[in-house]
Amino acid sequence: MYPDLDELSEEDELLKSEVHRFAEEVMRPASVKLDRMPPDDRVKPSSPYFKVLKEMKKLGYHKLHVSPELGGPNLSPLQRYIIMEELGWGSLGLATAIGVDSIPFSSAALTGSEKLMELVLAWMNDTECRYHGCWGVTEPEHGSDYLMIIRDEDYLKFGRGNVTARREGGEWVINGQKSAWVSAAPVATHCGLHAQLADGRSIADGIFCIVPLSAEGVEKGKPVDMLGMRDCPQGELFFNEVRIPEDYVAVPPGPFYGIFADQLLCLTSCAVGAFSVGLARAAFEEALRYARQRVQGGVPLVKHKNIKLALYRMFEKVESARYYVRKAMMYTHRRIFEKRSFDASPRHARMAQVYAKRIAYEVADEALQVFGAYGLSKEMMIEKLFRDARSLQIEDGTIEVLSLEAAEDVINNYEKTYYDADLIAKRYQEA
Ligand SMILES: Cc1cc2nc3c(=O)[nH]c(=O)nc-3n(C[C@H](O)[C@H](O)[C@H](O)COP(=O)(O)OP(=O)(O)OC[C@H]3O[C@@H](n4cnc5c(N)ncnc54)[C@H](O)[C@@H]3O)c2cc1C
Repeated sequence: MYPDLDELSEEDELLKSEVHRFAEEVMRPASVKLDRMPPDDRVKPSSPYFKVLKEMKKLGYHKLHVSPELGGPNLSPLQRYIIMEELGWGSLGLATAIGVDSIPFSSAALTGSEKLMELVLAWMNDTECRYHGCWGVTEPEHGSDYLMIIRDEDYLKFGRGNVTARREGGEWVINGQKSAWVSAAPVATHCGLHAQLADGRSIADGIFCIVPLSAEGVEKGKPVDMLGMRDCPQGELFFNEVRIPEDYVAVPPGPFYGIFADQLLCLTSCAVGAFSVGLARAAFEEALRYARQRVQGGVPLVKHKNIKLALYRMFEKVESARYYVRKAMMYTHRRIFEKRSFDASPRHARMAQVYAKRIAYEVADEALQVFGAYGLSKEMMIEKLFRDARSLQIEDGTIEVLSLEAAEDVINNYEKTYYDADLIAKRYQEA
């Protein structure tokens, strides 16, 4: 294990080594199996996917985004970071699966009604994967649009959503389709869904609701076959006159919807940042181990100057990303979970995701080069890590679009300490 510049307490060190053991002994072998399975087999009840998810739930990793007052584990923000980096080290796909599992339920815990809390409690106590969440954001006609709209002044240019919601007789009725990229959709029981108001002006006029995927009118697409992160099944969701009770709307229409979407992206950005550091570290450690063993030119690879420099570059990137993402996550969690002020800084959270994703790809690429042709072999872990790192550049928003969206926050709010919630609310009212 790596030495930690934060000089961790005994308790933190113990936690780190326990999660690492889980990542190495449970997640890694299952993720390699899943990666090689056809998509339909990955979602069967006998799939290793469910075995790992159940273990993760027993360990409470699904509740990392629920504060202790609401029944979540009594962990410091630093401890949550430590867990997330290790999960990313074990498998980016499975880390993503447990991350999206949490989104509908932990959002409902923060914002929802007492009725929704009953569902949240059932999910928190579940260790058999009877409750499994996914996050329905992107649509066939709206991928990056969902990120860009948060800070764009021109609401209307984004057009109408593919998924709409209308109020009818004390219920909400949902229609439309989410994209095939929704992580865990083929295996999920509940979706945290972003839907546009049927009479809204654009996708910015929306609600966030919890949809039980066993409801009448819900259909799931077939799990898709992707380049990387194959250990996390992805697929479409279709809604045909699906009725949910009023109580299942965690964020109703109004100015808070935009703020919620923004702050949720702050949380996912920090989580994806931590997973990315874990993946980058995994690639670096693979390269270091290999370079110490492989002999070329009569000496181990580590004796060659170009390999030494490559290893140093990788080390520099992993270490710098870790401490920045850690800082950004600790700050973001304090603003959202402890103070519940929903004013975490978007530019700092997006930076955590963009920087860590970028270095994850660079490190995986450079690590693979250290392996020579062996790195291209399906037998080698680095081959999977490289494919996962490529998918990572698109998951939760492309690097370019996240950077553009953060740039708007830098340009408009650089001198402010915190967040432009007033601006977002004012723009909503004036549009
Ligand atoms: C592994 C993985 C997991 C995912 N999980 C989920 C999930 O759980 N739930 C979910 O809802 N979605 C999920 N997604 C979808 C993901 O959020 C989208 O793929 C992503 O936001 C990009 O949208 P898109 O694929 O439609 O690309 P597009 O938006 O079509 O973008 C195509 C290209 O154009 C660029 N571009 C687009 N718009 C602009 C703009 N306004 N300005 C400048 N450049 C632009 C982009 O950077 C990109 O290079 C996942 C995707 C992946 C790969």
